[in-house]
Amino acid sequence: MPYPRAPKGVRTSGCKGLLVTISSFSALGLAEPLLRALESESYTQPTPIQDVAIPVLLGGQDILGLAQTGTGKTAAFALPLLQLLCVGHEGRRPKTVRALILAPTRELAVQIGNSLRTYGRFLHLKSVVIVGGVSQQAQVKAVNAGVDILVATPGRLLDLEKQGSVRLDAVRHLVLDEADRMLDMGFIRDIRKIVGKLPQKRQSMMFSATMPADVETLARSILRDPVRIDMSPPTRAAENIEQRVFHVAAGDKRVLLSNLLACPTMKRVLVFTRTKRGADRVAHHLENGGFKAEAIHGDKTQSARQRALERFRSGHASILVATDIAARGIDIDDVTHVINFELPNEPESYVHRIGRTARAGTSGIAISLCDSTEIDYLRQIEKLTRSPLTLAGGKPPAKRNANARDEKHYSRGRRRNRGPHQQMRGAA
Ligand code: AMP
Repeated sequence: MPYPRAPKGVRTSGCKGLLVTISSFSALGLAEPLLRALESESYTQPTPIQDVAIPVLLGGQDILGLAQTGTGKTAAFALPLLQLLCVGHEGRRPKTVRALILAPTRELAVQIGNSLRTYGRFLHLKSVVIVGGVSQQAQVKAVNAGVDILVATPGRLLDLEKQGSVRLDAVRHLVLDEADRMLDMGFIRDIRKIVGKLPQKRQSMMFSATMPADVETLARSILRDPVRIDMSPPTRAAENIEQRVFHVAAGDKRVLLSNLLACPTMKRVLVFTRTKRGADRVAHHLENGGFKAEAIHGDKTQSARQRALERFRSGHASILVATDIAARGIDIDDVTHVINFELPNEPESYVHRIGRTARAGTSGIAISLCDSTEIDYLRQIEKLTRSPLTLAGGKPPAKRNANARDEKHYSRGRRRNRGPHQQMRGAA
């Protein structure tokens, strides 16, 4: 292991990475204005990643955090960052940035910005979010006098830097959030360019749900002697998520989806599709069926995406149909179910998708609708998570070349018996 595993003096339980000793935020060394903000958010105890990361970051070290979403990793870096910026307040110079947070998607950047505002509400620090897809004018104005914390997606940040609207030579703290996703989305060159413009002397932290070789390489080039915090096996979904699968013909998925959603326990549901068009089609189908559904994907304008998220967050829409990239990092409380209308072709995406439910210690249900063309995806998922999904309905094809026959058989059976959807009703 190229990194030390956990800071000295912190005991871990038998379970890999699960920390059990520290039980209050004040014991972690957080200042009063932050404690007050946490109290008003009803955060009584730090999550395991917060337990470890906060003291390490307050001590000025770099961190490589392996943590899936829902572990409280945003607060794990945001709280110490806010405190460090208050303590070492040197004043802001025009167009400069004291701490830079890079996020892969606009939604995640906005969400991090919201968290900073929440946790830092009793501090006098200026944080700004700059993302693509909206006008640059307001962003240029917002950074003109200098900012304490800038949350940005890489492309837009580079645009503004090139134009001279923002300077990166005063950055003292760097956060790369969801690093694996940034690389998946092709941001590696942008990230390297940005990091090349930062001062050598800085504190850096990187968070990633998975640690493939390219993320490991990036970490080595950006972080200095980091403490590695391995909070959960990256290939494992949270244990408090019940995972079910329905084997169903592709043409029957919409009806099955409607039947599942009709169940009253489906209070707040995220539905995933593989494609943007698929997300629109499913959302229209649901709306036509009387459901309150919103769609969110990369072809929607920034304001349409925010509007859809807000409607879902506020409960005006109980269903959000999303593609992987649009949904990445979305933090919405109390998502009761995640439905994979289509299975992802990358098994890691499955873990990310279902991590949208069962956040912050609650439990949740993930339901996957698998047609015969997706059997390989399902096998990859089960290999990655090292556990078979619970069969909730339909018949898994025995062999790949038997798929077509099974599907026909399944459809005939459905007509004859009023359909497995009806039998499956209530399974949610
Ligand atoms: P994250 O993994 O950063 O996306 O956080 C997941 C969710 O946990 C968010 O809704 C946070 O507001 C919430 N959260 C983070 N830390 C705590 C805590 N110590 N106590 C209760 N909720 C928390």
